[in-house]
Amino acid sequence: MEVINKHMWEGNAAIQLASQVILELDGLNDLNLINWIDYYNIDVMDFCAKPNKSTLLHEYIKDIDYFHLEYLLDKHFPMTVINNLTPILDFFGLDYSSIGESIGLIDIDILDDSSDKAEEYARLLLKFYVENLSSVIVNEAFTILFMNKNFLFKFNSQLSEAIRELKVTDYPKLLKKDGVIKRVDFPSWLKKGVTYRDKGRCQLCGTDLTRIFQNDNPENYDHIIPLELNGSNDPTNIQLTCEKCNKGKGARNKNYVNSFSAFWNL
Ligand SMILES: [Zn+2]
Repeated sequence: MEVINKHMWEGNAAIQLASQVILELDGLNDLNLINWIDYYNIDVMDFCAKPNKSTLLHEYIKDIDYFHLEYLLDKHFPMTVINNLTPILDFFGLDYSSIGESIGLIDIDILDDSSDKAEEYARLLLKFYVENLSSVIVNEAFTILFMNKNFLFKFNSQLSEAIRELKVTDYPKLLKKDGVIKRVDFPSWLKKGVTYRDKGRCQLCGTDLTRIFQNDNPENYDHIIPLELNGSNDPTNIQLTCEKCNKGKGARNKNYVNSFSAFWNL
């Protein structure tokens, strides 16, 4: 059993983490986005006023990853933490042998959940993971989730509940009015990333916007949840559309298509 478990983790830590985040957003452990914002006292305007490369979703993923591992430690399951983390650290070729040495641990195989050494070792291993690897896994999980429009729509719908409460008197430079963030220009790294993810196609009507053969379809970058409906400028809320769809959409509709384009048709 253990061997299977270890093989599952090798190289797949980000997929497991992304699945965990999808479940948490749905309320698995009362840590949906709104509860997380309250619990960790997040100022959403640090992320939502203008696009940052390190997005609000990166923060959410990072906290869920840590929360999950910390919870296992608090419930005294250090072996689960050790068995989860060591295959990931091994897979990425990180040398963590000094951790065992530092607490005089010779053989990891003798540990079990009831021993104090296991608890001590698991805490140090978690610290090492957070300092050396978690940002890599978090960014991989982000890449997986950024492709999933259903998830992004849900994420930004929950976020809009928090933005709705913001007062222009608290953020006079960043809000147009209560609950509505000012429009900003999108940086080129974001436009490139969104075009790449959306495969150069309008996400509402499918028009090809790559300009390889024609030049009469200007591309637009559009808010999945419109700013007027308490949408955000966080990269997670941006998609590629054509000018016609963007202008026709206005602030009244929330619209997106989850376009996982198949590699071939069955
Ligand atoms: Zn279109």
